[in-house]
Amino acid sequence: MAGGEPLWRQRRRQDWAALRGGGFDVVVIGGGITGAGIAWQAALHGFSTLLVEERDWAGGTSSRSSKLVHGGLRYLPHGEVRLVREVGHEREVLERLWPHLVRPLPFLIPVYRRRGMPLWALGAGVWLYDHLTGVEPRHRRRMLGPEGVLALEGGLAAEDLAGGVRYFEARTDDARLVYTVVEAARAAGAVALSRVRAGRLDLTPKGGRVDLEDRETGDTVTVRTRAAINAAGPWTGEVDPEGTEVVLGRGCHLVFPHHRLPLRHAVALPAPDGGNTFAVPRGAVTYLGTTDRLYTGNPELPEVPDEDVRYLFQVARAAFPAAGLGPRDLLAVYAGVRPLVAQEGKADTRELSRQRSIEVRRDGLISVRGGKLTGFRSVAADTLRHLAEAGLRPPRGRAEEGVAAFSPERAAADLVREYSVTGLVAAEIIGRHGPSAGELMRYAAGRPDGLEPVAPGAPLLWGEIDYLAEREDVFTLADLLIRRSALLWFGGLSEPGEVLWPVADRVAPILGWTPEEVEGQLEGCRREAHLDRLEELRRLSL
Ligand SMILES: Cc1cc2nc3c(=O)[nH]c(=O)nc-3n(C[C@H](O)[C@H](O)[C@H](O)COP(=O)(O)OP(=O)(O)OC[C@H]3O[C@@H](n4cnc5c(N)ncnc54)[C@H](O)[C@@H]3O)c2cc1C
Repeated sequence: MAGGEPLWRQRRRQDWAALRGGGFDVVVIGGGITGAGIAWQAALHGFSTLLVEERDWAGGTSSRSSKLVHGGLRYLPHGEVRLVREVGHEREVLERLWPHLVRPLPFLIPVYRRRGMPLWALGAGVWLYDHLTGVEPRHRRRMLGPEGVLALEGGLAAEDLAGGVRYFEARTDDARLVYTVVEAARAAGAVALSRVRAGRLDLTPKGGRVDLEDRETGDTVTVRTRAAINAAGPWTGEVDPEGTEVVLGRGCHLVFPHHRLPLRHAVALPAPDGGNTFAVPRGAVTYLGTTDRLYTGNPELPEVPDEDVRYLFQVARAAFPAAGLGPRDLLAVYAGVRPLVAQEGKADTRELSRQRSIEVRRDGLISVRGGKLTGFRSVAADTLRHLAEAGLRPPRGRAEEGVAAFSPERAAADLVREYSVTGLVAAEIIGRHGPSAGELMRYAAGRPDGLEPVAPGAPLLWGEIDYLAEREDVFTLADLLIRRSALLWFGGLSEPGEVLWPVADRVAPILGWTPEEVEGQLEGCRREAHLDRLEELRRLSL
């Protein structure tokens, strides 16, 4: 550590000090995928840009999704061809930009007799989907009979199985994607500050002021800006109480050890109510979700209700009858809330469109509502068009987004060879850091126990813990263990709570935590990771 203070804190102090008396072309409120994407694209167009996030990067919905970068097959029956084509294109661009983070993933949709769509209709839909979304030939759909389905995923229920379709989508790590986009925004010249809340807005269509509060110190500052963009997700209505209402749909996920649900494909699970539930393999785990129900509580930390857990177990057991999944198998649970645009007469959140809406208020505030993880670049492009209509033309044509030629497989094999880490650890590190993994590993090798895992079998090394704490805007233990590293939810640990203290103890000197602060961090992290809820659920008879 340089000079007793992590590098990111030094930068943050300087950035905050420079805000005094400062002005920007664009201030973006909200550091989820929507706000991060807008800030990135605004900076690439040459706008001086400030991005502020009240909590942690991806501290809202953008760390609690199903993490699928998908073209939205289910929009096809609704005739939303334009949306399908657009998100399909986005998936392809993201795979090129960040091949370590947006990974092609084979999907399997089993079809059962007398349930849901007939096989031929599904096959026709996926054929059209592949062509609309420009899927490369080797990843195009394959039609399967019942034996073909069971040869791919032998655990699926065989009774009444009519066949299935195999095709390709992609999976990401949503919180890492947001952090990567924030870093890309910074590289393009944006100032990006987490734990900074946007308060009062004093705007006119020609520009105005935004009050900011540093949530760490309580310090406040007012910045001038030519435009303000509200990308506050579930909190959009707080920032813009006059605009169209945002309705929240809560979705929950359950996480199991991969060996208890050893899938090679993401599998669409037939649900009794036609719900949209997938089982998705990810390293040491397989996760299962999502539910989708109206939520009227506080979006800060939505709980995982019994009702949703029961529903997901019911769907999982029907799909994989021989697995014998029970609550004791659970490794993690989490919930997130979708910000959806309210529509007259629709009370079921599953019926609400996933399309975004962009509204410009009389005083010039631009509010972005709805949308998905996958389409964030096109949301940003639309937002910039609104800026241009409001007279704020980009200073320049967009700078290159910077596509790197990078092979995650080759890079992971290099790590295994050079540092004798396991294949799983190497794949996870490459997944998190991509082309920067080499730099991380050199750093880790120079730290005490730097190449040792934080717990037996954990896909995270002590050296990476130090690296993240030192460089990646880590304020809390939850920032580190849920969003920067995903260890608590996806690390495959049978007792995730057991790593909290050793990790907190390790990073306390880097982050300057006193013993009392360490206690607070442990408690906060347990709460955010739903660890007490996990223990409660493991004792339930479901
Ligand atoms: C269960 C579930 C599963 C999903 N699965 C998928 C999927 O597989 N694929 C997909 O493409 N999409 C998926 N989605 C949708 C996707 O996750 C969301 O559309 C997306 O993450 C929303 O991002 P956002 O940036 O708009 O909101 P958020 O991520 O919530 O970001 C808003 C941010 O604004 C900040 N903020 C609020 N007020 C202020 C303020 N005053 N000042 C500063 N900051 C503020 C908040 O702290 C928050 O971090 C899913 C959603 C859910 C809930």
